[in-house]
Amino acid sequence: AGLDEATNEKRSLLARLESSKPAAQPPAVSSGDVINGRTTAQSDTATERVQPSKSVHLAGIPIVKGIAMGPIYRYEATLPEVPETTATDPLKEKEALETALQEARDELDALKQQSLRSVGRDEAEIFEAHKLIVSDPELRKSVIKLMSDKSVGAAWAWRQAIGDVMELYKASGNGILAERAADVRDAGLRVLRKLTRVAPGFTNPETPSILVTDELNPSDTASLNPDRVLGILCEHGSDTSHSAILIRSLGIPAVFGVKDAQNLLAEADFVVLDGEAGSIYINPNDQLRAMLAEKQAHWQDKLQQAETVRHQNVTTRTGEPISVLANISDIEHLGLALSQGAEGIGLFRTEFLYMGRNSAPDEQEQYEIYSDTVRVMQQRPVTFRTIDIGGDKPVEYLSIEKESNPFMGWRGIRFSLDREDLFRIQIRAMLRASAHGTVKIMFPMVSVVDEWRLARSIVEEEMTALEQDGIAFDRDVKLGIMIEIPSAAIMLSDFLQEVDFISIGTNDLTQYIMAADRTNTKVSGLAGYTQPAVLKVIRKVIKKAVKAGVEVSMCGEMARDTRMTDKLLSYGLRHFSMSASGIPEFKLNLTNRG
Ligand code: PEP
Ligand code: MG
Repeated sequence: AGLDEATNEKRSLLARLESSKPAAQPPAVSSGDVINGRTTAQSDTATERVQPSKSVHLAGIPIVKGIAMGPIYRYEATLPEVPETTATDPLKEKEALETALQEARDELDALKQQSLRSVGRDEAEIFEAHKLIVSDPELRKSVIKLMSDKSVGAAWAWRQAIGDVMELYKASGNGILAERAADVRDAGLRVLRKLTRVAPGFTNPETPSILVTDELNPSDTASLNPDRVLGILCEHGSDTSHSAILIRSLGIPAVFGVKDAQNLLAEADFVVLDGEAGSIYINPNDQLRAMLAEKQAHWQDKLQQAETVRHQNVTTRTGEPISVLANISDIEHLGLALSQGAEGIGLFRTEFLYMGRNSAPDEQEQYEIYSDTVRVMQQRPVTFRTIDIGGDKPVEYLSIEKESNPFMGWRGIRFSLDREDLFRIQIRAMLRASAHGTVKIMFPMVSVVDEWRLARSIVEEEMTALEQDGIAFDRDVKLGIMIEIPSAAIMLSDFLQEVDFISIGTNDLTQYIMAADRTNTKVSGLAGYTQPAVLKVIRKVIKKAVKAGVEVSMCGEMARDTRMTDKLLSYGLRHFSMSASGIPEFKLNLTNRG
């Protein structure tokens, strides 16, 4: 969840500032100065500590853009060692464990409610996931067994069991599970804090500072105060980790993956963090500091300008209209989409309605959500994508078996066509919603024309059934497909003869063209849409669709990247759909270039 917002905010304003305002640039940093060596050559100095006053540049993974500067505030989020003590009263220890588990569950319920109100449902689900960990009967059983086998206290046994689960996740070789080890640690720490004093929780710094930590726990993130934590620097964590999702919704500039940062920064006193470039400047000299401050001011200025243009319509240089739409995964995101200037919904990821619950939503529940969405959008178009379950979005109650290659497995339209019962319910709900506005229906993960034809025939059958039942819907609902699998891009001409529209899903298309898992940070260099092979396919798809007179849009991450806009416009793209937070800047970019 939040995967919609789990978009990378790596690029943008600052990238453009860099080209438009050379005077505001920090001086080029030589490879010897980049001491953790992510962007340049490795240096032998990687284990050195930074001398006070020595100016150094570190590089990491950009997570949330923006510039922050200030003193350092350190925090350790790791699971601490707990002394192994013999339990004098085993019954009391067991009671202490039960109480701690219950208290942790209550806290997580409260945190979930608080997140629901303040940031949104996707973020709130993170705490629901933590509650599942804390409530896991197997985990509880193994702790109790450890306690009785070894006659140890609850704190030690709990620490041990949580550590074992984390190791299992990390060793799984599965990128997503390895990332989720951080959630296990976080939920585990919550309980541990109730059992022992050795694991203090996160507290905000007294004075506004840059937080430097090994890895941030999602629940620590929930207590961050953006007035006191100006920027975040983590040694670990990835772009799609839950902490990244939460920090992004708070808008705190952040850089992850800065190897050995805690050690390197041990003696540092002032830091500038550039969340756009993924750069950290330690103890910058006066000249560099002034330049970075200017860059920061300029960036804030641009943000303000973006605020003013977000509701304006944008066009190409020759006056052709460009539509800017929002990607959402929940009706609760609609308000944000509209306030940021969305002219419609280009992608509603409906699979999120099926997640974080014990059974599938029925037709009526879906109809209410879809029709409310359409009504709120008035006559603006809303593209509902049928469920893209599977891949990185497993749903337990649908008993999708564990697959060794989930991204290439039973997901998207493949799943829907096999589970026709669920598919028909969803299609009926979408069709009924079409009576209240402009609905488009889109199928994900289509690889061959037969899948499209089958899906279309099911929609037609449901239309006939609704007609027979005298239920209102729009006969003219447009049907289209995502182009996110190379085979569909290669055979595009066949699809173009039959579909009403296509939408390019660059996230999946890129990972399949490059054979590089989109969630695996180790191959993130390959999994980028700027790869010439990916650009070549995208160019062909857009040009062919334009030539055939079929509407083509883009709803993958590439759509919001302002560095790519001119290129995409030159290919003929006119419809861009992105997470709502990217819209103001996207429009500003088009407005400014005249
Ligand atoms: C995509 O693949 O680009 C896309 C928009 O779909 P999702 O990110 O939901 O897989
Ligand atoms: Mg996709």
